[in-house]
Amino acid sequence: MSRDAIDLHTHTIHSDGTSSVEELLRAAAENGVGAIALTDHDTTDGWDEAARYAPRYGVNVVPGIEVSTAHGGIGVHMLAYLTKDTRDETSQLARFLASARASRVERTKEMVERMSHDLPIDWEYLVTHCHGSSVGRPHIADALIGRGVVSNREEAFTRFLSPSSPYYVKYRMPATLDAVRAIVADGGVAVIAHAWSDRRRDRLNEQQLGELIAAGMRGIEVDHREHREEERRRLRAIAHENDLIVTGSSDYHGLGKPNRLAENQTAPEALAAIIAHASSPTEVIRP
Ligand code: AMP
Ligand code: ZN
Ligand code: FE
Ligand code: FE
Repeated sequence: MSRDAIDLHTHTIHSDGTSSVEELLRAAAENGVGAIALTDHDTTDGWDEAARYAPRYGVNVVPGIEVSTAHGGIGVHMLAYLTKDTRDETSQLARFLASARASRVERTKEMVERMSHDLPIDWEYLVTHCHGSSVGRPHIADALIGRGVVSNREEAFTRFLSPSSPYYVKYRMPATLDAVRAIVADGGVAVIAHAWSDRRRDRLNEQQLGELIAAGMRGIEVDHREHREEERRRLRAIAHENDLIVTGSSDYHGLGKPNRLAENQTAPEALAAIIAHASSPTEVIRP
């Protein structure tokens, strides 16, 4: 791996990753990753730590968020790069994320309540597996691992956490078009994550992708472990036809997923294009 690897999609314990921001940056430095985007689900909580630790580990950090949204009944994860910090009171995205995080807590309580009748899990135990404000099903998975019910997150999702499970509860998320417009209004750059993941039951068609592009989406994450070769080829072509930025990334979750840091990478020109399109006060954190 080159010393200048660029990986624009990673998670920490501020959402459902298992590494702290410092551990993530140390791992990046040890693996020759020169630039990393911090993209925790629905929160900017890790950004301050990134600013603190980037100099220590010599890694450039692109502040980001992976925003959970839905379009036409289909879940869409939208990466927001260099967007205005949602703690800024003028942020358009902020209220969507605050609402989504509050709803994540309520739905997780409800899922745990349902499970508690059959499995050795309760809310008090679950919160010991959460470190940040963005709670997700992986935290329930970790609690089930802790209680010896399953041996890894994958097994927990298959047996108990998928949308077809009786324990599954939805949470409130913004419409994708609203989220994209808010990201654009906040001066950020919207890039769709793992659009055609081989794990999903239904996915956006090309017309729907066109609707997101018309709303201001600027890029497509093409190289991702859940995209097969055929999907990558077609997504790359769509990006080319629409003058969009193409990215590749690991979607690193620490020990929570097998994804290795920088297993897929983004070209320096693509990162430069993201920086060129951003217009918020948020900047790349340079060591
Ligand atoms: P939630 O945010 O509660 O909807 O949970 C979805 C998150 O769980 C995704 O963003 C992934 O990070 C993670 N996830 C989904 N499926 C799996 C799996 N099979 N194994 C581990 N993590 C998963
Ligand atoms: Zn995740
Ligand atoms: Fe995602
Ligand atoms: Fe992700």
